[in-house]
Amino acid sequence: MTELDRWVLSQSERFLEELKTLLRIPSVSTDPKHAGDCRKAADWVADHLRKLGCRDVQLLASDTHPIVWGVGPDVPGAPTVLIYGHYDVQPPDPVNEWTSPPFEPVVRNGDLFARGSTDDKGQVFAAIKAFEAICQGGKPPVNVRFMIEGQEESGSRLLFDLLNKEPERVAADAVLVSDTSYFAPGWPAVETGLRGLCYTEIEVRTSKTDLHSGLYGGAVPNAHDALVQILGKLKTPDGKIRVPGLYEAVKRPSAEERKAWKKLPFSEARFLRDEVKAKALTGLKPYSVLERTWALPTLEIHGIMGGFTGEGAKTVIPAVATAKVSLRLVPNQKEKTVQKQFLKAVKAAAPKYADVKVRFLHGADPVLVDISSRPFQHIDRAFREVEGRGVVPTRSGGSIPVVPALGKKGAPVILAGIGLPDDRLHAPDEKINVEQFYKGIRAFARFLTYMGDG
Ligand SMILES: [Zn+2]
Repeated sequence: MTELDRWVLSQSERFLEELKTLLRIPSVSTDPKHAGDCRKAADWVADHLRKLGCRDVQLLASDTHPIVWGVGPDVPGAPTVLIYGHYDVQPPDPVNEWTSPPFEPVVRNGDLFARGSTDDKGQVFAAIKAFEAICQGGKPPVNVRFMIEGQEESGSRLLFDLLNKEPERVAADAVLVSDTSYFAPGWPAVETGLRGLCYTEIEVRTSKTDLHSGLYGGAVPNAHDALVQILGKLKTPDGKIRVPGLYEAVKRPSAEERKAWKKLPFSEARFLRDEVKAKALTGLKPYSVLERTWALPTLEIHGIMGGFTGEGAKTVIPAVATAKVSLRLVPNQKEKTVQKQFLKAVKAAAPKYADVKVRFLHGADPVLVDISSRPFQHIDRAFREVEGRGVVPTRSGGSIPVVPALGKKGAPVILAGIGLPDDRLHAPDEKINVEQFYKGIRAFARFLTYMGDG
């Protein structure tokens, strides 16, 4: 144990109480009712950074959901680390499924329960406390900047706009993002790939109005029928997506990367039994589950709307039917290209008599992170010293749309979070493990120190 570890442990109760104060602010960014709370959380974070000796602390781009910016003491000649995180949280619904109220943080069995505890207040606060730790005894060894936004859960639009206008904000030697999780307890991870997204809505119209199924049935088109035909043609039963050209850009992970995944503590049987809780896994069986969820594109139907879905019976032939469908994209695919391929495939699958429209609702390109640069050696060493195991390279099946923007000035973006896989982010009873929180502070403080050494 180093002096730094001892100091962190001596302050641990205070750190936890401070975090609880932040967690009590219901900064739900998607709900306009909570705009004032988002501002309150931003003010709290800004005040906190000021207290820790940051200068140039500003609230940028908005009065209600500002981006909190702060700059640590100037360390001439030393590298610069940008710390990114977010103070906004997901809505707490369904509130009655929480064991204790979502905005009254409480520790049970070593876990701190509250909305935002792991996503992302607890994680970004660990990075802030790491900064406090390296400031003990005078000057920190590295230049630190903070960029903590309030719209991550609702699209990060303000941050994208800001970085288009002021890309210099992300000019740094490394960007640290603590908003992800360990692969398993005791297995810190650094994410090397994120899937992209292409979210669409297909609308099919087959007649001007709904028609009576007794008077017309047997001789007229049905919009649901047409929609089901289209959807049925987009994927084979064994999981191959039938969008021509879609797989052409897909770059398979290297043999080395796939070998590293095999060493991770992951069992497909346990995954099916404990996480998925279904009768069987589906998809492209020749590939491992990790490859299927991390490195292959998907096509999922999220919902089908239209016609009659109320109680009882109504004999209608619907004129319009709509489906929400999204594709997850993997490194080397481009959202724009996939949009064109998907549109073509849907049109080709549609019966001649159907008018089909495809709307693209939102999306993101996939991300591949090169982890060969020095900052990744520093994060690996930092976790190795704290956890007894360095970071394992993993990928995520999900998307963090802000990552490419954070790296647009060339800084390596390090996705090395301190959550655990069972933290239930976005769900009732979200928690952060208190030990993980302290370990995160110790690991991030080491990382910042080693970054200062160059
Ligand atoms: Zn998050």
